[in-house]
Amino acid sequence: SRKFFVGGNWKCNGTIEEVKKIVTTLNEAEVPSEDDVEVVVSPPFVFLPVVKTILRSDFSVAAQNCWARKGGAFTGEVSADMLINLGIPWVILGHSERRLLLNESNEFVGDKVSYALAQGLKVIACVGETLEQRESGSTMAVVAAQTKAIAERVSNWSNIVLAYEPVWAIGTGKVATPSQAQEVHFNLRKWLQDNAGAEVALSTRIIYGGSVNGANCRELAAQPDVDGFLVGGASLKPEFIDIIKSAT
Ligand code: 13P
Repeated sequence: SRKFFVGGNWKCNGTIEEVKKIVTTLNEAEVPSEDDVEVVVSPPFVFLPVVKTILRSDFSVAAQNCWARKGGAFTGEVSADMLINLGIPWVILGHSERRLLLNESNEFVGDKVSYALAQGLKVIACVGETLEQRESGSTMAVVAAQTKAIAERVSNWSNIVLAYEPVWAIGTGKVATPSQAQEVHFNLRKWLQDNAGAEVALSTRIIYGGSVNGANCRELAAQPDVDGFLVGGASLKPEFIDIIKSAT
C-alpha cells in the first residue's frame, strides 16, 4: 500500500531566523511514525544546507526546482548533480508557479524529471489545470498532457510522487472539494494504469495541493486516491503538524 506523503513547499519565503524557528517547531512535534507518513519540507535553495543539517532525521528535504541537464554555463541555475552532491534527496518539479510565471513547458518539465531521476533524486512532479481550463471542461486533458510529457521520458516511476495542484486552488483559500480532488486523482491513476502499467498505477502516490489546511485535510485524506498533500502557506505554520497527523 502507498505510504502517506506530506510535503511542505515553503516557496520563496522566510529569513534564516524564521526558517530555524519553523524547523524547531517541527523538531519538537509529535507526529505519526515514519512507517505511516513520509514528511518532506522544501525550503528555498539558500536555506537547504542549514535545514538539512538541523531538521529531525525522520523528515527530509526537497529543492523547489533544478536545471534540466548537467551543469555548466547556465547562470542562476542549480543542477540535480549539485543537489545529490549535497545529500538533498528530493526535488519539486513542474510547480504551476514555474510553469506559468517562468513559462516552463510540459516537455521542459519532462526533461527535468528525467534528468533528476537519472542522477538519483526523488521527484515531486506537479500537474494541474487553471480555472479557465476547468471551466472549459479540459481538466483531464490538461493534466494528462502534463503527465504524458513525463511518462514519455521516464520508465521507472518508483521515485516519483505525482502532485495534483489545481491552479485555482493554490494560495486562494478555495480548496478543491474532496470529490473534485478524488475525481482527478482517480482519473490520473487510471491514466497511469493505461499508459505506464497496473503496477505503477497501484504504487504511485498521488498527492493533492491547493489551500490545504488543518481544518480541511482529514476529509481530503479520507478519499481513496488521495495519498497525501503538498502544502504551501500552511506549511510555514504550526498547523502543518495537524496536516501531518491526518496520515493516521
Ligand atoms: P497553498 O497551500 O498555499 O495553496 O499552496 C499550494 C502549493 O502550491 C504547494 O506546492
